[in-house]
Amino acid sequence: MPTHAQEVIFAAVGDVHGHMNRMVDQLRHQSEVLRRPFDFILQVGDFEPHRDAADLATMSAPAKYRQLGDFAAYHQARRGFPWPLYFIGGNHEPYGYLDTQPEGFELIRHCHYLGRVGVVDLHGLRVVGLSGIYQAESFRAARPPLSALGSVSTRAFTYFNERDIEQALELGHADVLLVHDWPSGIIAPDDAASFQGKRRSPDADTVGNEYARLLVDALQPKLVLCGHMHRSYRGSIHHASGRATTVRCLASVEQGVDAFGVFHFQGDTYSEMLLTK
Ligand SMILES: [Zn+2]
Repeated sequence: MPTHAQEVIFAAVGDVHGHMNRMVDQLRHQSEVLRRPFDFILQVGDFEPHRDAADLATMSAPAKYRQLGDFAAYHQARRGFPWPLYFIGGNHEPYGYLDTQPEGFELIRHCHYLGRVGVVDLHGLRVVGLSGIYQAESFRAARPPLSALGSVSTRAFTYFNERDIEQALELGHADVLLVHDWPSGIIAPDDAASFQGKRRSPDADTVGNEYARLLVDALQPKLVLCGHMHRSYRGSIHHASGRATTVRCLASVEQGVDAFGVFHFQGDTYSEMLLTK
């Protein structure tokens, strides 16, 4: 028997930036089209689960992006998530809240933070997540403790470091890997021109980071989900082992259906389902 012979259907969501209501509306719509509930939801960071203004103050972001968003209503149980959701941290998160439990926790019913580095078994699928983004100067240093909030830049909490990568490598293998920024080297030559001169990508060679790529090469997941660039893209990586990884990059929730992907796993095969607007 294959390890996950059962049929599993889950949705993936790109950067949310506090727009949980739009996310839930779109997921409900896609579930109605499928005539089936989702088994779970995976989210690739920049979720922004601010309970209140104090959480918001611990997020690194320019003033114009500093908004409370929808999460408070979920935290106060005035609204709810219809299916279990698992998210990693991006570079815009209330790390003053999330870093109280860096190993991950359930914020509210159906809403789980995977932690700085996390692994969870969902319906037979091994899902690994790495929070944060890469920055060369911070990579070899320890992250500041929560007690340093207020005296160091909030940005210092948005990076993953060498220890996180080592911890993730120790997990050995994954079926699905969640990273916020893209792995490097996934842009097909034919697509390179469309990355030229875009915000965050002066050219295709600078898209993504080598440590996310290192994790993909080591864990050899079937599927990598990422966000950050607010752009939908599909890349693939072929490993020397003969295995292949699909890298599915998702747009942001404000951009509409491009922020979503629905995946069907059964046995050793999986497919991405077409979404209707
Ligand atoms: Zn974002």
